[in-house]
Amino acid sequence: MDNSAGPGGPVKTVFGLSAPLGGKVERLIPVGSQAVGQSFIPLVIIQGAKPGPTAAFVAGVHGAEYVGIETLFRLSRDLKPAELAGTVVLVPIVNMPAFQTRRAFVCPIDEKNLNRVFPGRPDGTFTEVLAAALMAEVVGPADCLVDLHGGDLVEDLTPFCLCEESGQADVDRRAMDLARVFDLPVIGLIRGHAGRWNSGGTLVAAAAAGGVPAIIAEVGGQGRLLEEDVERHRHGVMNVLRQMGMLPGWPTLTTAPVIVSDMIWPQSDVDGVFYPHVKVGERVRAGTVIGLLHDYFGNLIKPVHAPANGLVMFVTTSPAVMRHGTLMGIGVLEG
Ligand SMILES: [Zn+2]
Repeated sequence: MDNSAGPGGPVKTVFGLSAPLGGKVERLIPVGSQAVGQSFIPLVIIQGAKPGPTAAFVAGVHGAEYVGIETLFRLSRDLKPAELAGTVVLVPIVNMPAFQTRRAFVCPIDEKNLNRVFPGRPDGTFTEVLAAALMAEVVGPADCLVDLHGGDLVEDLTPFCLCEESGQADVDRRAMDLARVFDLPVIGLIRGHAGRWNSGGTLVAAAAAGGVPAIIAEVGGQGRLLEEDVERHRHGVMNVLRQMGMLPGWPTLTTAPVIVSDMIWPQSDVDGVFYPHVKVGERVRAGTVIGLLHDYFGNLIKPVHAPANGLVMFVTTSPAVMRHGTLMGIGVLEG
């Protein structure tokens, strides 16, 4: 929990730990119990030499999204506490059971998707307990939060940021500022549960509800660790630290982002084989054929049509799909 005097306070305490002024601590923090299953998270606290805000960066909420994980490893190694104002809290691998077993989307202990159970429950299943611990210890003390994601093992995606509106004008404005300085080519500004995107239970929505501006930043996918993708995430993270006044200088911007107002996730309504007919980053018109569904003999069952005018943000690249399985994500463009 946060035991300091708030933003600008001298030292933040996370999971009972703090780093000395101008120093850093790394610890493996146990999570869970014998009853629900046990694991751990790697925690890094970097305490700047000067006072300032607290910024939290997490990755590996989905354990096979490696670009964000690698970005936080490098940030931990490269950030110089002497140049930093405030506290940086890093959790490079939130979902350790999924990372260790290379599981897409869910945690193998209870088969739950961590990014659908926030704010979690201290008396729940392993994934719910993990979510509750993150909310109390990492989100609680933070002045901003960035949740680094990418396409999972079976997804290709075009880089984008997501903000979920909380209805608190100041929090939402600061989240949008974070999304802009993260400098990815697309920003999804999601209007909470009113939208068609199934936003229940995300870390960023729970953080925003608690007054902490938060964004999801998505880069990379398909289990690959490409240098250009790590550099994109790193650029965004450094810009956020400059925007927060924690590093010297101003954010540098390279993109004029497209803003999408909602996200639709077309699903398969059959068990079968999926052939996407669009690529990530492509614009589609409502009604366009965006893919084909075949049966297990290779015969066409039906085409899949775009549900709206939009931008293809991610695509399921594994042909194996089941009923209710997500086929792609389309960012809605007005008009
Ligand atoms: Zn993810």
